Amino acid sequence: MNDLEPSLLIDGRAVAPSRRAEVIDPADERPFASYPKATPEEIGRAVESASRAFPSWSRDEAKRRQALASCATSLLDAADRIAGLICREQGKPVGRARFEVENAARWFKYFAELEVTPEVVHRAADRVSTLHLRPLGVVAAIPAWNFPVALMAWKLAPALRAGNTVVVKPSPFTPIASLAVGHLLASHFPAGVLNVLPGDGDAGDALTQHADVRKISFTGSTATGRRVFASGAPSLKRVTLELGGNDAGIVLADADVAAVAEGIYNAAFVNCGQSCAAIKRLYVHASVHDRLVEALTAIAEGIRVGPGSDPQTQMGPISNAAQLARVEELLADTKRRGARIHTGGERLARPGYFVRPTIVSAIADDARLVAEEQFGPVLPILSFTDAADAVRRANDTTFGLNASVWTSDPEAATPVAAALDVGTAWINQHSAMTPFLPYGGAKTSGVGVEHGIWGLREYAQSQLIDVKLPAPR
Ligand code: NDP
Repeated sequence: MNDLEPSLLIDGRAVAPSRRAEVIDPADERPFASYPKATPEEIGRAVESASRAFPSWSRDEAKRRQALASCATSLLDAADRIAGLICREQGKPVGRARFEVENAARWFKYFAELEVTPEVVHRAADRVSTLHLRPLGVVAAIPAWNFPVALMAWKLAPALRAGNTVVVKPSPFTPIASLAVGHLLASHFPAGVLNVLPGDGDAGDALTQHADVRKISFTGSTATGRRVFASGAPSLKRVTLELGGNDAGIVLADADVAAVAEGIYNAAFVNCGQSCAAIKRLYVHASVHDRLVEALTAIAEGIRVGPGSDPQTQMGPISNAAQLARVEELLADTKRRGARIHTGGERLARPGYFVRPTIVSAIADDARLVAEEQFGPVLPILSFTDAADAVRRANDTTFGLNASVWTSDPEAATPVAAALDVGTAWINQHSAMTPFLPYGGAKTSGVGVEHGIWGLREYAQSQLIDVKLPAPR
């Protein structure tokens, strides 16, 4: 299979598509590959195939665990090849792309090894009640373009382990690595268990509205999440939505600036700022504000920005033209408002969607860069004098994904973290997801959770087997 001109994966086979579209390299703005752009009819064939595969796949748990373990091994064996594709279509440095493939393998391994047993929820002399997890059927998995392979694994591993079959619709910005992974892993599954079909414009709707899809797992913007939710409503599909965020970091007065600066920088500029779990606004106590701004500016100025394929590169381009346009719009608004730009603030004068890491201060809470999700390498830093005020401002948003508190006294800071209206409140770390801890957003940042047994349960119907015991003689 030619990785740069892949076929659809339907019913365990490479299927030549009826139409194709270009994939753009964000490091030089040139098309370098083409992807099969699935039609609604092809999506329908994949759902039919997944429906046919479901009954026997759902019955054999040992086989499912073995298949997931094999997926982890195959991904690690092919890590360099897949990382090269992620780097080319998504833009991230190749070392980070390799880390993403390893992350995907970690999720498969975790769900292969997770012990899932029926839970006795009630026992009495006359009654024993046991909760079982039953697979749902066909799952529609729609990962986003920022971590195409990791997000695909985050959905596939629990969905398949629970006994479902899956149709994956990768983002049209990052279809190549996802298809390479699909074709690589297909040999570990019976035909139809895993299908991968990128599309653009009409594929997503066709998949999420399909009557035989029982569950949708979507990662992406809140606006599209609403449409996905609505698509699933008529047939009451189960839905997990991992949506946008505007994560706040709060740096308390007792924080050791030298100790926290690097962790905060990495959390804000991870993946060129294109992560749902990046710090997107930073509230810093006035007593340490200037020192932290200085420290973050110094780190940003030392970062090597360039094509992800260069091993020296620490930050690649923004992933696609639409996202670049959004970041440039927010930067223009920031400049119009007279905020202070300490470093960065411009697109690089070369082909590619490159913007240097940008540190901004003296900006108002209602500036677009603070109030909206920038999803790019631009961090606004705000000052506070009272921690309760910082929490109020952090919570003053419709988003509620994550937040973090940075301090020298984690115990004393716990009430501050607990007051944050978010799905995950970290202390002295951010963006620290693992396969074994639940992750999900509050407010408009999502519905449901991913990861761990909590994530697995979202791909299952709980069934109570409730037995009346005979009276003792
Ligand atoms: P979106 O999140 O808006 O999602 C676009 C994808 O959703 C496409 O693949 C599209 O497929 C699919 N889609 C659209 N409608 C439906 C539907 N009814 N049912 C199923 N699928 C559907 O991505 P964008 O690339 O436009 O990103 C925009 C913003 O999203 C970013 O600026 C960022 O703020 C946020 N984002 C958040 C992420 C996160 O991790 N939470 C990740 C990425 C982006 P098709 O066209 O084939 O129908």
